Amino acid sequence: MIVVMKAASSDEQINHVLSFLAKHGLSGHPSNGVERTIIGVLGAVGPSGAPGSIGGINPALGESLEGLPGVENVLRVSKPYKLASREFHPQDTIVDIPVACVQGGVVHVGGKEVVMMAGPCTVESEQQLMTTAAAVRKEGAVILRGGAFKPSTSPYGFRGMGEPGLKLLAKARAEFGMAIITEVMTPTDVPMVCEYADILQIGTRNMQNYMLLDEVGRTNTPVVLKRGMSSTFEEWLLAAEYILSQGNRNVILCERGIRTFEKITRNTMDISAIPLIKQLSHLPIISDPSQGTGRRDLVGPMSLASVAVGTDALLIEVHPNPDEALKDGAQSLTIEQFRELMPQVEKIAAAIGRTFIKG
Ligand code: PEP
Ligand code: MN
Repeated sequence: MIVVMKAASSDEQINHVLSFLAKHGLSGHPSNGVERTIIGVLGAVGPSGAPGSIGGINPALGESLEGLPGVENVLRVSKPYKLASREFHPQDTIVDIPVACVQGGVVHVGGKEVVMMAGPCTVESEQQLMTTAAAVRKEGAVILRGGAFKPSTSPYGFRGMGEPGLKLLAKARAEFGMAIITEVMTPTDVPMVCEYADILQIGTRNMQNYMLLDEVGRTNTPVVLKRGMSSTFEEWLLAAEYILSQGNRNVILCERGIRTFEKITRNTMDISAIPLIKQLSHLPIISDPSQGTGRRDLVGPMSLASVAVGTDALLIEVHPNPDEALKDGAQSLTIEQFRELMPQVEKIAAAIGRTFIKG
């Protein structure tokens, strides 16, 4: 349910609505628009932390709310996801990431800025990580990616360095002033990964790992939630709802391609997901053309396309020697290719009135 306040409503009237809701065991989530405030209403939070059913809100209560001073009308949210929906929260959510190497010390994912996140698929060694970090930073990336815990399709594939890999990421952050994004795979690892990461990545294979979503939802660390490779938009946004409903509002969605019948590309990158998510949700959406295509020759064009349709950031795999990469070499850009791509990204961002943040 959504309470739409009148354009001229006062703070006192808004507070009155909020305390009325609280008295009835409901939580109100105000968002202040340019014109008016709207208040999203959720049912009581159950023992598992999930919000109670919206359908369970007594219809008579809606009528009482409509009679309160300053209230224009009361609407039902038609979507199964509430906190993630654009209806519930019409303004764009902006997730602030502290980044030492940029002016002002923070980047804003979901605003006017376009942010570059780049680095190796996987942390392989100190030399590989430091070389890549130095190179991508020099070209203007401000967030360093690198997996220390890797979901490997085969149990015989490299599964990452674990905590020593996280320590290397922390070392790179200290040296280059970049923020760190890295994957967390199990609920028990969340506190440890949070000690090192500025952004937690939930991988495509874990998009429906609900215990993990609950656990990252209990932190305040920003989360990049990859699209499940066979998930619908509704399932993806419901996964985001898990995190949001636990209290963590710093959720960023990531298009990384979906599985189709096609084999020439590793995944089918769904560029339409970027503008569509912006209609359905207020959450930032970023693009990963590396997993999205699986082919380094397509990463550049799909990066540019993603920026053109409004991505809030790019997440790109770069390796100093992709042919020797332990993971995802075929889709990793060389440092030279990354260097050539950056000014093109900047031009497309400028063409659609956005600022490309290079630090
Ligand atoms: C990755 O970013 O390297 C990765 C494993 O991503 P995804 O979960 O999208 O496959
Ligand atoms: Mn990868």
